[in-house]
Amino acid sequence: MKRSIAILGSTGSIGAQALQIIDMHPDMFEVAALTAHSNAAAFLSQVKKYRPRFAGMVDEEAAKAIRGQIPEGVFFSQGGGCLKEACALPGLDLALIAVVGMAGLKPLIECIERGVQVALANKEALVCGGTLVVEKLKKKGQFILPVDSEHSAIFQCLQAKGEGNSIKRIFLTCSGGAFRDWKKKDLFHATPAQALKNPNWDMGKKVTIDSATLMNKGLETIEAHALFGVPADDIEVIIHRQSIIHSMVEFEDSSVIAQLALPDMRIPIQYALYYPKRVYCGVQPLDLIHLEPLTFEKPDTSRFPCLLLACEALKRGRSAPIALNAANEIAVGLFLDGRIGFMDIPEYIEAAMDKFGGQEVHDVDDIITIDADCREYIFSGFK
Ligand code: NDP
Ligand code: MG
Repeated sequence: MKRSIAILGSTGSIGAQALQIIDMHPDMFEVAALTAHSNAAAFLSQVKKYRPRFAGMVDEEAAKAIRGQIPEGVFFSQGGGCLKEACALPGLDLALIAVVGMAGLKPLIECIERGVQVALANKEALVCGGTLVVEKLKKKGQFILPVDSEHSAIFQCLQAKGEGNSIKRIFLTCSGGAFRDWKKKDLFHATPAQALKNPNWDMGKKVTIDSATLMNKGLETIEAHALFGVPADDIEVIIHRQSIIHSMVEFEDSSVIAQLALPDMRIPIQYALYYPKRVYCGVQPLDLIHLEPLTFEKPDTSRFPCLLLACEALKRGRSAPIALNAANEIAVGLFLDGRIGFMDIPEYIEAAMDKFGGQEVHDVDDIITIDADCREYIFSGFK
């Protein structure tokens, strides 16, 4: 029997690749729900092709433009609430949460509460949700299938953990981003177009800028802590320019288990979708003989302070990761719009962490309030 899947963020880089893989194995999934933000044309063509039971468009204007063209039998919803509605669809087996930013948090919580298995690409939800999400998962006896390539690699490496063994260290690998060889003085003049050229990965804009600042690796350190319960000091970020090793786990006997493949998100996406089965997903096999030598370097946090800020937020706990994430989302948007410089991004984050980083977080409402206050503070020029 086919399993039912909801894809949140279906028009994005991850969402569209997930649909490509689903197309390769048409007997395995029913595409039950799709959601997008404002890309009306791409979303409409997906809805016409897959005819999901539920289609949700967040942006009201975009929704208005396509409402009349939604095929019969598809329930169409608009506005921010449609993400949660998609997760509440009866008979859902899996939800792929591939929206960008904090918007992923509410649907993640909804899935956990409803007992729907989550495949999670959206790292921001785990960064903000942190302990709260982990506690909810424990209470419900659930786990998350990670889509982020490093966390998928770690999850795969952990299949070798066996009974009674603990993780000694996690090595989180990193391409180094667009500016890995730039001098610090040049980073002050870096443009969005330059930052959007990741050497190894083809991804959405926000995560590509995060890769250039190394905030991506910072968010992923927090994500790894939430997913695998490993303390911050035992998570080591390593620049690995070739992006062939997608992360590694070291055990008590000093054995290191790694997952290798060409840098292509279709591998971690298929692993999360079909787990524990692996399926063909169109990625070429590794040609080990002709690979460039694999190299490893320490990240330079004086050029890329965002990585340090994220590690500090993880250690400080409380509302620090929420402030870090909110300020980063806003600062990345401002940088992409050409309104602030590349090296202003960490300054905005530091200011937000100083002001909003010390609050207690009891529930989801606290997260949403702190996130909103922090965004307002950054937008209004730190007033
Ligand atoms: P994209 O920007 O390519 O796509 C984002 C998707 O989410 C689109 O469908 C977009 O709709 C929708 N969306 C955007 N904003 C909102 C919102 N406020 N509410 C609801 N939906 C929204 O992002 P990616 O696919 O690159 O990334 C998605 C997530 O996966 C991110 O958290 C990223 O960090 C993570 N990730 C991505 C990787 C990649 O290779 N791309 C790798 C590892 C992790 P619309 O198109 O209509 O705007
Ligand atoms: Mg990643």
